[in-house]
Amino acid sequence: MPDTIAVCGANKFPFDDRISASVTRSSFQLTPSRMTSTDPHHIWHPYSALLSRQPVYCVESAHGVRLRLDDGRELIDGMSSWWCVIHGYNHPVMNAALTAQMHKVSHVMFGGLTHAPAIELTEQLLRIVPPGLQSVFYSDSGSVAVEVALKMAVQYWHAKGQPQRQRFVSLRGGYHGDTIGAMSVCDPDTGMHGLFRDVLQKNIFAPQPHCRFGEPCSPQDIQPLTEILETQSNTIAAVILEPIVQGAGGMWFYSADYLAQVRELCTRFNVLLIADEIATGFGRTGALFACAHADISPDILCIGKALTGGYLTLAATLTTREVSDTIDQGEPGVFMHGPTFMANPLACTAAIASIKLLLDSPWQANIARIEHALEQGLAPCRDLDNVQELRVLGAIGVVEMKQAVDMKSITRAFVEAGVWVRPFGRLVYLMPPYVIKDVDLEKLTRAVTLVLARTG
Ligand SMILES: *Cc1c(COP(=O)(O)O)cnc(C)c1O
Repeated sequence: MPDTIAVCGANKFPFDDRISASVTRSSFQLTPSRMTSTDPHHIWHPYSALLSRQPVYCVESAHGVRLRLDDGRELIDGMSSWWCVIHGYNHPVMNAALTAQMHKVSHVMFGGLTHAPAIELTEQLLRIVPPGLQSVFYSDSGSVAVEVALKMAVQYWHAKGQPQRQRFVSLRGGYHGDTIGAMSVCDPDTGMHGLFRDVLQKNIFAPQPHCRFGEPCSPQDIQPLTEILETQSNTIAAVILEPIVQGAGGMWFYSADYLAQVRELCTRFNVLLIADEIATGFGRTGALFACAHADISPDILCIGKALTGGYLTLAATLTTREVSDTIDQGEPGVFMHGPTFMANPLACTAAIASIKLLLDSPWQANIARIEHALEQGLAPCRDLDNVQELRVLGAIGVVEMKQAVDMKSITRAFVEAGVWVRPFGRLVYLMPPYVIKDVDLEKLTRAVTLVLARTG
């Protein structure tokens, strides 16, 4: 029943091959009845119920910071498609790089084979990541990069003759992905540990740091983690955290001093530190990597999301020579992971082009410009009765409401105001593509202010 396979709009990719047009150009017509039958009845969306009939909007195409819906409406994207699309959609440089690579090789297995995009990307990453990280493992999504990081830590301690070090410490309010291992280090409440009790490893949670970004860390803030490490470090493989910005677990910005102290504690108690920069990496917080705010290097780093500028799915787990050498020298003498799509050449090519675009741009000034515009544009939200607080860091603006928003009505209001903003719980937040112009930033923040003023 090929009719039930829904793709939006016609395939407009600029194929220049002599392949027959009937093969490359889909004849699929997205009729209204298909939108209301196939999608809600057969396709899951993130954290959705098939039966809930939450409205979804169909994107026909996208360009720059604008999403074009199938009914012709255009929305300014305030989400960068969840941190990813930093250079905007349909970028000519990215398109050209991918088209060229596609004509060489789109995918090839990475077992026993290598290719220029993987090598070039690795050289590029090693130049920009926090110092000391030397060994790179590519995978296909952020959650898998976290799984790989956890496995690296376990294998490291196994090779060191301390196989009892199997547990992880993470922070309340943290988010590290949706797979079983990653879930076991997510906040136990938002990660629904009760529901998955019997399949999740029992890890250890330190309280969320209360000290804010820009503030020093109080002794009370670091004390619980200190105690955990003092008393249990011989069973702990690693501490895992999102440096500076806790993303999907609460959009919370915390003290760089706290992060620096966590690094010191990990060194003192001989526990590995895993920095999950899947959301924060590639400039979002004003530093290329958020670890730089505290001038620290982790033992293991996870990156993903903006790595390919949002073009393709790719993630990486980086570690020190010490960790990778130790794993190599232990049993079974290899690192035990190997995804089918490891270091996919197209994805690596997208990453190379995206990083080059970023580094060739005045990205720091640009993030500072967006930060300023978010501060200014969202400032009126501070006076709204239903708003708890406004916080801005780098190209991230968060309006924390007093009560959870009604997703259905607020989403419709945003769409009607010409913007794409997707809140969760009490959090309405913006993280626009870095290429957004001042006038569009103004439209975006004005829409948020107006919609929130009318809400509740
Ligand atoms: C998004 C995210 C992940 C998971 O990445 P996926 O690509 O969705 O699997 C992990 N950690 C952090 C900090 C993230 O923001």
